[in-house]
Amino acid sequence: MQPLTLQIETPKFFVNGKWTAGSSTETFELRNPATGDMIGQVPRATKDDAREAIEAARKAFEVTSWRDMEQTKRGKLLMQIAALMRQNFDELSKLETFNQGKPVRESKGDVAWAVRAFEYWAGAADKIEGETIPVTPNRLTYTLREPLGVTVHIIPWNYPLALAVRSLAPALAAGNTVVAKPAELTPLTLLKIAEYAQKAGFPDGVLNVITGSGAIVGKELVSNPNIDGITFTGSTETGRQIMEAAAKNVTPVLLELGGKNPNIIFPDADFEKAVKMAKYAIFTNAGQMCWAGSRLFLHDEIYEKFLAELKKQTELMKIGPGLDEKTELGPLVSKDQQERVLNYIKSGREEGARLVTGGTVPEESALRNGYFLKPTIFADVTADMKIGCEEIFGPVLTVFKFKSVEEVVRMANDTQFGLYAGVWTNNLKLSQRLVNQLQAGVVAVNDYLVAYPQTPFGGYKDSGIGYESGLQAISYYTRIKSVTMNTS
Ligand code: NDP
Repeated sequence: MQPLTLQIETPKFFVNGKWTAGSSTETFELRNPATGDMIGQVPRATKDDAREAIEAARKAFEVTSWRDMEQTKRGKLLMQIAALMRQNFDELSKLETFNQGKPVRESKGDVAWAVRAFEYWAGAADKIEGETIPVTPNRLTYTLREPLGVTVHIIPWNYPLALAVRSLAPALAAGNTVVAKPAELTPLTLLKIAEYAQKAGFPDGVLNVITGSGAIVGKELVSNPNIDGITFTGSTETGRQIMEAAAKNVTPVLLELGGKNPNIIFPDADFEKAVKMAKYAIFTNAGQMCWAGSRLFLHDEIYEKFLAELKKQTELMKIGPGLDEKTELGPLVSKDQQERVLNYIKSGREEGARLVTGGTVPEESALRNGYFLKPTIFADVTADMKIGCEEIFGPVLTVFKFKSVEEVVRMANDTQFGLYAGVWTNNLKLSQRLVNQLQAGVVAVNDYLVAYPQTPFGGYKDSGIGYESGLQAISYYTRIKSVTMNTS
């Protein structure tokens, strides 16, 4: 493996078109999850810095030309960020892995997705349209779609770049100005996007990225009365707190929260593909995914055979640093997350689930200082076990057995969450029955972990409110003005 030589530049964040260390001298340390080594420091912004970022965005919205810029021109600026991302594709992918830990081939997929998202929204910028509404002959009635104003974006650490772009690109395309806060653990690729926006010639204050903790900067951003919208992806608990803060100012929220997603395999499914994808659905990104296929439902007829093959393939996975191109399973994002997941594994053992494989940290001395965990499978899980109902957010698969369609639908829906679901069968009627009955915002048939910038993504129940991606996202990032003109 090539030694890593990435250098983190002087720690600064980006407000009002300028790089600044903010009003405090405090910083926080960034670590390489594969080694535990410190890789840099980023300023810990204060409440005052957060307010300043909001004011910069407000000024950019109201005073400068962003809001009224010709839509096609706005689209071109977004396209330029995409072009800069393409030019720096390898560097961005490595940086994501260096900071977050995931295998670099996954980071490349994330960067490619984010580039496509900028391109998609660049193209959409001049297609955000109102409607004419027939009322009476002497009245012309129509709607205008206007930007909300200043939108705040709170970004998690599991897809630091892709999830940032997922909400920033439509918000900007619609004419909003934005303040984004990356997770404290993983700010680096979003800071790069700010750099590209500056190079592309975005007016000052249109895109602001501020580094700081959720408890201080995040809280100030979402509670501030001077904002017009909040987009958040993260835990259901933090989502609730954000919604409470937003309620005080009647600020609209778009929330994409946790998941405990069913991946259901019927006996007629393509066995080999289903095994391969069941593994992929949980161990990608070391399982740190809201859309992970974390509850695997296997039909009684194939239960033991499927488990045996899945165990065999799981044990062949190459665990290692994400920057090694051969790595299939990287470290978790932090020591805390590793400990959190180990606690779930302990609880699974105590509650009587059958440990099929994994359950410990890898023995290799080269991996000892990183935040690694072996890919873990628990079988004979039930919904009353902690591991069977809570979001683990790590490389831990919980496997359930079912005998009938009615039973699996009931079991799959027996959760507070409703984000994503997978169904594996070659029976068309059966697949459609499941599509209709599963309480999930996104359903994949004979597939898993599929999302395009053009397809809506959002959750039922405690998995969130509203939809990211797809043209539907525009209905969140704009408001409608209804206009009537008396022409008599
Ligand atoms: P959080 O939901 O707390 O963090 C997500 C983002 O919210 C981070 O940027 C965080 O900032 C910020 N934040 C935290 N508190 C507030 C607040 N009060 N107001 C505004 N912003 C805030 O998740 P954690 O990082 O604590 O992870 C815990 C668990 O959450 C995971 O194990 C997983 O189960 C779930 N999770 C789900 C994600 C998803 O994609 N649905 C993504 C991440 C986590 P900072 O981290 O800088 O303090």
